[in-house]
Amino acid sequence: QGGIVVHVRVAPLAERYILLLADDRTEITRTEAIRNDFVANVSHELKTPVGAVSLLAEAIEDAAGDEVAIKRFAGRLHKETHRLSALVQDIIELSRLQGTDVVLQGRPVDVAHTLAEAVDRNKLTAEGKNIAVKVGGARDAVVHGDPDLLMTAFRNLVDNAIRYSPENTTVGVGVRVRDDLVEVSVTDQGPGISADDQERIFERFYRVDSARSRQTGGTGLGLSIVKHVMSNHGGEVTVWSQPGQGSTFTVRLPVFEEGTTAENPPPVDE
Ligand code: ADP
Repeated sequence: QGGIVVHVRVAPLAERYILLLADDRTEITRTEAIRNDFVANVSHELKTPVGAVSLLAEAIEDAAGDEVAIKRFAGRLHKETHRLSALVQDIIELSRLQGTDVVLQGRPVDVAHTLAEAVDRNKLTAEGKNIAVKVGGARDAVVHGDPDLLMTAFRNLVDNAIRYSPENTTVGVGVRVRDDLVEVSVTDQGPGISADDQERIFERFYRVDSARSRQTGGTGLGLSIVKHVMSNHGGEVTVWSQPGQGSTFTVRLPVFEEGTTAENPPPVDE
């Protein structure tokens, strides 16, 4: 139907112009569909923790006088609100990243430094499971981008590696520069991911095992956020994995070159 509107309005103009407009409309319809879908998913995802918070508040009221029960319910309430807050934070982050008006606070970013900080922020979770996080590789890799967003992306990958790994294992984090790309990889000795699931894990709210994701504090949005941060930086994220053999997530970003930014690309040799 959109095609008919476009055709009537621009029929006297050049065919190329008609095509451009038709494309635009398709893009708008697609963006709207994605947004509607997202709102539906978000409502569904919020229902569970909001329901739990409400029930627990009621239970605390009913338990008046029973100190032990109140303490137990309050502890669970705390956990649910924590989960809710992580979910809301990720939803805001993702909808910001998906917007057309994303403004990257771009500047040169030291990848090894950002990665080390991302690892540090996951230190407590790793220690709690006796997981050794080993960081290695290039120390002089620089990309152009938004340090906060890149930190968020790295943190999500390291966080996943730790959350899905069994206790007493190792997570390896590495940086290397290959031609004009900086590669960051995060390898774990976790359960691995089947080929079919690998195709879907970057979708919003897709989880291989929902119970496990929720139980470990996952929101189902982490990898989707990583994917969007990478595409906003002209990079990509890929996964290598086999069930039972762990997983390696790799992000690739263009190397920063002096005087070069996304808005000011290097001259192309003819
Ligand atoms: P979640 O909050 O559920 O972890 P993500 O978007 O970060 O959401 O990941 C999506 C799904 O991909 C997870 O639910 C999990 O099933 C799978 N996954 C992500 N990282 C790993 C990993 N390192 N090892 C095994 N499975 C993983």
